[in-house]
Amino acid sequence: MSLHEKTLAELAAGLRAREYRSEELTRHFLDRIAAHDGTLNSFITVTPERALEQARAADARIAAGETGPLLGVPIAHKDIFCTNGVRTSCGSKMLDKFVAPYDATVVEKLDAAGVVTLGKTNMDEFAMGSSNETSFYGPVRNPWDTERVPGGSSGGSAAAVAARLAPAATGTDTGGSIRQPAALCGISGIKPTYGRVSRYGMIAFASSLDQGGVFAQTAEDCGLLLGGMAGFDRRDSTSVDREVPDYLAGINEDIKGLKIGLPKEYFAEGLDAGVERTLRDALKVYESMGAELVEISLPNSGLSVPVYYVVAPAECSSNLSRMDGVRFGHRAADPRDLTDLYERSRGEGFGAEVKRRIMIGTYALSAGYYDAYYLKAQQLRRLIADDFKRAFEQVDVIMAPTTPGTAFKLGEKSDDPVSMYLSDIDTIAVNLAGVPGMTIPAGFADGLPVGLQLIGNYFDEARLLNVAHRYQQVTDWHKLAPAGF
Ligand code: GLN
Repeated sequence: MSLHEKTLAELAAGLRAREYRSEELTRHFLDRIAAHDGTLNSFITVTPERALEQARAADARIAAGETGPLLGVPIAHKDIFCTNGVRTSCGSKMLDKFVAPYDATVVEKLDAAGVVTLGKTNMDEFAMGSSNETSFYGPVRNPWDTERVPGGSSGGSAAAVAARLAPAATGTDTGGSIRQPAALCGISGIKPTYGRVSRYGMIAFASSLDQGGVFAQTAEDCGLLLGGMAGFDRRDSTSVDREVPDYLAGINEDIKGLKIGLPKEYFAEGLDAGVERTLRDALKVYESMGAELVEISLPNSGLSVPVYYVVAPAECSSNLSRMDGVRFGHRAADPRDLTDLYERSRGEGFGAEVKRRIMIGTYALSAGYYDAYYLKAQQLRRLIADDFKRAFEQVDVIMAPTTPGTAFKLGEKSDDPVSMYLSDIDTIAVNLAGVPGMTIPAGFADGLPVGLQLIGNYFDEARLLNVAHRYQQVTDWHKLAPAGF
């Protein structure tokens, strides 16, 4: 078995057993990036020297007898996480020349655990998008069909892991940006409970929704990497001070008697027939393992997309005000005066989708409209969260499609923002409620990967990982890699 076919857990074990060194492993993945990323465009920045330096440091720690669970494994970071001394572009021309002067907490924690960073992955501009087509650095291609999108906004991380250019990667999920691309690229991904992973140094899109998480081949790998990232951080005021459990401790537990809720609103009109068939087969696998399927209702599901497209733009319009060419970001040449500097810096630095969101958000927050839009959206958000609360009084986990269809063609939705927004219809409610969600590969429809979404109660990540892992022990979907990679 080639090194890139192994899971993160296997690679970490091999390093500890001294079957290979981190430097060798890191070179292997750097070579794969050099060979394949011309096609995929999944990285914005590759950092070979730095990676090899980190790998040698990890090798020295292993040689000295250290045995950390992540020591010496290479990964990639979404280019939304600040990395000290390395460009952090957030997929935007605005930050094309921004070299972060500090590390995000996620990066700092993983560095300390001895993880090697291969580079920074491509993404939709400021994480706004569902196809990776809004990136200043050009679209990412889906390794299962390079004429198709990988999903977004963390499309680079998803494509890189799917094509085995990195064994795992970080991502962020504000409305589905981990789960949707993971599903479209046929890999596993988890967005933990809001507040579980620090947002410090993670460039803000919509602060009350943004949450960092993981892409990997398996649920076990998701748990392994999440364990290294999660935890309280006093530098993020919404970070939750609660102990991080060992996500792998109960991963093998039996799921006999598990109550799985199937929200009828998610298995309804609009769901692709091939996707539905694939998911029903996956649910049968759960039944054969002794789980019980229960139909439930999340009655306010229909409100989630409209509510999100008030809340997220409102918060982004505020967060992105710092990109003004003075405090942060691209600065226009030869300004006439201060107003001209602001106007042209922002006009030149931001792409069309980001401008659209800033305009919607500024409108929704303005005097006279605030109550009608933003406040109303916040009230509806409570109803959406209450739906989940009621559901978890009845069932242990919820299962649903991750996306209503499979990967679409590049360009197919780029002129139609509403149809693009609807591709997140199955993921957004989870962010509005703040509960954890994950996706696992569950088969194919018309030759393209289909993701099964698992939704848990607050801080129930360990259970999601356990339920996902049990499925992966009896199925092989997560082991399949796209041809040619
Ligand atoms: N696709 C959604 C959007 O465009 C979600 C993005 C995300 O989760 N960052 O806003």
